Amino acid sequence: MESEERPTPDAYSILVVDDQEDNVELLRARLAARGYVVRTASDGQQALDLVRESPPDLILLDVMMPKMSGIEVVRRIKNDGDLPFIAVIMQTALDSTESRVEGLDAGADDYITKPINFAELEARVRSMLRIKRLQEDLESRERELEDMNDRLRRVSQTDGLTGLDNRRYLEERLHEMFEHSLRLHEPLSVVMCDIDHFKSVNDTYGHLAGDAILRQFADLIKEQAREIDRVGRYGGEEFLIILPGTVLDAAVTFAERVRERIESHEFVYEDERIKRTVSCGVAAWPHPRISSRDQLIRSADDALYVAKERGRDRVVRFDSDEFKAHAKPSEPADAGLAAAHTHS
Ligand code: GH3
Ligand code: MG
Ligand code: MG
Repeated sequence: MESEERPTPDAYSILVVDDQEDNVELLRARLAARGYVVRTASDGQQALDLVRESPPDLILLDVMMPKMSGIEVVRRIKNDGDLPFIAVIMQTALDSTESRVEGLDAGADDYITKPINFAELEARVRSMLRIKRLQEDLESRERELEDMNDRLRRVSQTDGLTGLDNRRYLEERLHEMFEHSLRLHEPLSVVMCDIDHFKSVNDTYGHLAGDAILRQFADLIKEQAREIDRVGRYGGEEFLIILPGTVLDAAVTFAERVRERIESHEFVYEDERIKRTVSCGVAAWPHPRISSRDQLIRSADDALYVAKERGRDRVVRFDSDEFKAHAKPSEPADAGLAAAHTHS
């Protein structure tokens, strides 16, 4: 009973509960001889204590006991959500239909009448333990299913190439973070980064080199971000970083750090050393022009567009003079996220 794994089916554990000592001893000896691990209790409270200390597979439970009846014991065991499934066989008097009904209603799984016929008792014990085994199989399959669901959920949130959050998950996160910011009036910034002239990496070194650079690029951004920031792949070579509790100036500083990091980095693919730069657009809430998650992303995207227009390898903030002078004509305010994504 000490170990979770049972070496053989015989190592099932049984708790015998009866206020009559000779009865307990008889059952204990008989069941122990069959290879079961047997513990005994002489009253209801002791039985409950033993069950909570180490749950047995099966309880052979006398109904007629002073202090706490077997009916009450089974009710408490079956209502205890912390306990695993424990098969309960009630021992009832031959003439007591009423207590049998009461016991089964309280959650007992089976009953046997006194005086006990041992052949019948053993058959009922075996049958109950078969049910217990099925129950355990079911529970372990449920756990496997839950694990599988967790894995599927993670896969559905993750970009396969970089391991970062994917676009759908990022948008969910941003929605939550934006709502949170509105509620607490905490600042929130986003940075949209797009690798410059990335297409030529594919064209020159091949698609696999492009993939390797995307992975390295993802790692570099991740290094710059804090634990609470969300870094995700928004499109092909476009990355979105959500910075909660961060004002625009601090987000610009972050983006500038990313830009410098990329500029000074040599990407490695096989024997090739490849240099690239990155352009970033930065937007933040609160700002009079931003009242939705979509407007926040769109503003960062528009600033990124200006960064590209102005020669790449630069960070542009959405409220700067440079932005105002070069932003493309604005689109209808509620064109949505799909329209916001224009640089891939
Ligand atoms: P710009 O400086 O204007 O951003 O130019 P660019 O070449 O980076 O941008 P463009 O949008 O013209 O090209 C993006 C390229 O990214 C085209 C596409 O094939 C490539 N790409 C997108 N996703 C992946 C990917 O998962 N792996 C690889 N290897 N390439 C990708
Ligand atoms: Mg690009
Ligand atoms: Mg792009």
